[in-house]
Amino acid sequence: MFWYQVTGFVGSFFVVLAYIPQTSHLIKEHCSAGISRYAYRLWFLGAVFLFIHAIMIQDAAFTILQILNAVFTGIILVFAERYKYGVCSAHKI
Ligand SMILES: [Zn+2]
Repeated sequence: MFWYQVTGFVGSFFVVLAYIPQTSHLIKEHCSAGISRYAYRLWFLGAVFLFIHAIMIQDAAFTILQILNAVFTGIILVFAERYKYGVCSAHKI
């Protein structure tokens, strides 16, 4: 494995790590405060197209990252739609 691949996997790890607080709060608290479903739709589409690109350039780390991006943005989209009027006590004004 080359160093550029290692940095790709480490970067992918941090990207996935960043999804966890948002996803966890959304699912546990049924709270979609501050989540733009429009933005997540665009990020999902971006992940799908970047996944195709990653396959074409045969980059393993980038391919896995785009799969994970699509999975997490998809999960967030589904739950943000389900709880679109949900606001937890911490986010109530
Ligand atoms: Zn909340």
